[in-house]
Amino acid sequence: MKRSRQESSGSDASGFLFAANPEETQEENKTETASLFEATQGQSLFETTQDQSVEDKKTAKKARKESKPSQEENDCPDSSSSAADEVPDDLFATSSSKPETIPEDRSDEKSEPTTSVQEAKTSYLSARDGVKPSSYQVVARRYRPQTFDELIGQETIARALSNAIETNRVGHAYLFTGARGVGKTSCARIFAKALNCVQGPTTRPCLKCDSCVDVATGDDVDVIEIDGASNRGVDEIRQLRQNATIAPTRSLYKIYIIDEVHMLTREAFNALLKTLEEPPARVKFIFCTTEPNKIPITILSRCQRFDFGGINGVSIAKRLAQIAEQEGAQAEEGVFDVLARRANGSMRDAQSLLEQLLSFAPKFISQSDVHNMLGSVDDAKIFAILDATVRANAADAFKILNEAADQGVDFGALIEQVIGVFRDLMVVECGCGVKELMYSPVARIEELRLVSQKLGARRILASLQVLDQTAQRMRVSAQSRILAELAIARLCQLDSFQSIESLIAQLKQGAIPNLRLETTSPSSGSPESEESKKK
Ligand SMILES: [Zn+2]
Repeated sequence: MKRSRQESSGSDASGFLFAANPEETQEENKTETASLFEATQGQSLFETTQDQSVEDKKTAKKARKESKPSQEENDCPDSSSSAADEVPDDLFATSSSKPETIPEDRSDEKSEPTTSVQEAKTSYLSARDGVKPSSYQVVARRYRPQTFDELIGQETIARALSNAIETNRVGHAYLFTGARGVGKTSCARIFAKALNCVQGPTTRPCLKCDSCVDVATGDDVDVIEIDGASNRGVDEIRQLRQNATIAPTRSLYKIYIIDEVHMLTREAFNALLKTLEEPPARVKFIFCTTEPNKIPITILSRCQRFDFGGINGVSIAKRLAQIAEQEGAQAEEGVFDVLARRANGSMRDAQSLLEQLLSFAPKFISQSDVHNMLGSVDDAKIFAILDATVRANAADAFKILNEAADQGVDFGALIEQVIGVFRDLMVVECGCGVKELMYSPVARIEELRLVSQKLGARRILASLQVLDQTAQRMRVSAQSRILAELAIARLCQLDSFQSIESLIAQLKQGAIPNLRLETTSPSSGSPESEESKKK
């Protein structure tokens, strides 16, 4: 029953939006629409199907309400269930586990009326040998922030939007920009909930009313989420415009959340302009995009723009630790820092990595688990490589590389790690402290200070240039190991090269500079990098 409800609401949503499935909706509503369809054209058909879909939604809602008590009975006594069960069952449903489990549950109920629902569930669960209950949702969706307070790393934006609500200055079009996984869509949903909550507009949506619940799942009748990538044409936008003139069904506002809005065609954007400038009363637009530079200036100037920055590593690591705890997993120290560093400011990436790890090591996550998964090496190895290059001992460095290769390391990831450490060296050399470290553990700060003094700014910058070139070449080459070794060898030789400045100084003093080293390895490229750096 749940499954079929889902399907129907799914097709409703698309039919409602853009009639993406015209045949299907026509089929369903043939009897009602036939006469209208013959009499008139698209417009009235669209209206009819829309009314129909709203009707369907209402019946679906009723059905959901009826079915809720029995679900709760199901879930409450199950003490082993965690956060997953507190969320309503149909929240964030994934396609993977649901279809397989729900029908089974139902068949149990039907075929054995004497068995209680609870028993059926327990036997089912024990049959699955302790695997978590049916509706498994991916971590990133399950732990999606639900209120402004939970929006990690975007506090300024959360405050700005809250203030807009409190002071009754909510605009009619917003543009949320930023890299993937930094909270744009989550923020859009929270904002929609805040505006449309039964108790709203409020900065603290109740999360319990129908509107809040439906917005969270992305299938609210009045908060319409559109994927800009697959609804990019002018026809879809025209339909949206017609649709927008119809008053919201049950909420205060009709809110359009268009994801990846930069994918709309130029014509589609033009079709949107007028509506965006003077939208119908009670219509709000929230656009989300990773590429604001692709959006016409005419659109940009009609929106309030909020730039979502990358989330800092400390916040991500903290959140990951919370999630792991709630998932019942423990972790070695520093594990979440490594994940946060790899996620590079994206909360969703970090949570996906954590999820991958949890399926790999559900009870205890060790550093080596993380590095195995990421194809990276632990910090100790990276610092050993660094040490070898400082000592100009390529043989030692190659030994470590060889060990890493035996462990199946990804050399691209390894070079990225070395770049990270040199970046931190550069920062430390400039006099920054622990707060500015991005890629090295805080405990290593003293070591970094010592190394940076030994190497000096010039050599650190030259090393970074060598490593960066290597990383670029690795992306298009299959010889990643050789390129990595080449780079490390060059880093080891950097101390032998004299800067152009010092050569000039020697010449000025009348001395004949010792050019032996440069003539022995003319192709090494480092003198060039020194030169180009000077320019
Ligand atoms: Zn609410």
